[in-house]
Amino acid sequence: MDGEMTTLRRLEAEGAAALDMAGIGEARLDAHRLLLAAFGLDETHYLLERMQPVGLNVSAEADPRDSTNRYREMISRRALRIPLQQILGEQEFMGLTFYINAHTLIPRQDTETLVELVLSEQKDRGGRLLDLCTGSGCIAVSLAAKGGYTDVTATDLSSEALAVAERNARMLLAESGWRIVSDDSDLVPDAGLPPEAGRTGPAPAKGIFRLFRGDLFTALPRGPRYDIIVSNPPYIPTAMIGGLQPEVRDHEPRMALDGAEDGLAFYRRIAAQAPEWMNPGGAIYLEIGCDQAAAVSALLAEAGFADIEVFNDLAGLNRVVRALHRTGCPETVGL
Ligand code: GLN
Repeated sequence: MDGEMTTLRRLEAEGAAALDMAGIGEARLDAHRLLLAAFGLDETHYLLERMQPVGLNVSAEADPRDSTNRYREMISRRALRIPLQQILGEQEFMGLTFYINAHTLIPRQDTETLVELVLSEQKDRGGRLLDLCTGSGCIAVSLAAKGGYTDVTATDLSSEALAVAERNARMLLAESGWRIVSDDSDLVPDAGLPPEAGRTGPAPAKGIFRLFRGDLFTALPRGPRYDIIVSNPPYIPTAMIGGLQPEVRDHEPRMALDGAEDGLAFYRRIAAQAPEWMNPGGAIYLEIGCDQAAAVSALLAEAGFADIEVFNDLAGLNRVVRALHRTGCPETVGL
């Protein structure tokens, strides 16, 4: 075995070469991240110990042979174009570390544009907030954590995704006093459940975070309407999915990406149905593909929304459409 004399630096170079061969752009960076994860090291210990034989590695707790094997196995998986975040089991979003697996879209930096916009525009933190197609829960959980909203509901069609969102909510919110209420059963739509259905025990100090499984609004029990609706729905036209990079095309859930033929299927349904779930003056924020601003704005206008505005991401691309539910004519659709 070469184990005796191998150093962290050599292992990193070996992994980077394998990833480079597999056509991965950030080969060195990915190898570095996997090395730290496999050996349980932080940057400081890596810098101190990278030239030593791995057997002399003092900071890592595990047997260095196990760590070396784990690292090489991670490199092999990455070489198969499995996303780095799925191998590490985490991704940072809005400064929070979210648990990730293959059942949800990996949180993208683009989506922080939506979260930051909501935080800057929605200062009335008492309102009820709804996140449709929550996936990992990154939008709903970070808004709850950063915005101090007291009533947040997240829905997803996939129970596997909802389990990830629940885990993130418990990990990132429960400790600071949020009550997490999960209803993954097949809820009868419009079952007339009171808004606090499923809630037991003492009132939450910070707020209540609810999770419901189901197809967009049909997931929700009838109750008070929402003041803020947010969503990053699947928006890629079906025919374009084949041309995406292998990490996305082959390893992220198709149902989190596929927006049907023109990519707009979810916006059509959300725009048409949202008004009856919103309080007058409420706001809706939708993440969009960078070429969908005009189409999504038109759908919202058709549904009677006002003050429709498009916002760009850090790359300067159209990324979010925001619209307001007209005060005083909550049920009027198709003005
Ligand atoms: N922005 C994602 C991508 O480029 C897609 C997200 C979505 O469909 N909601 O892969």
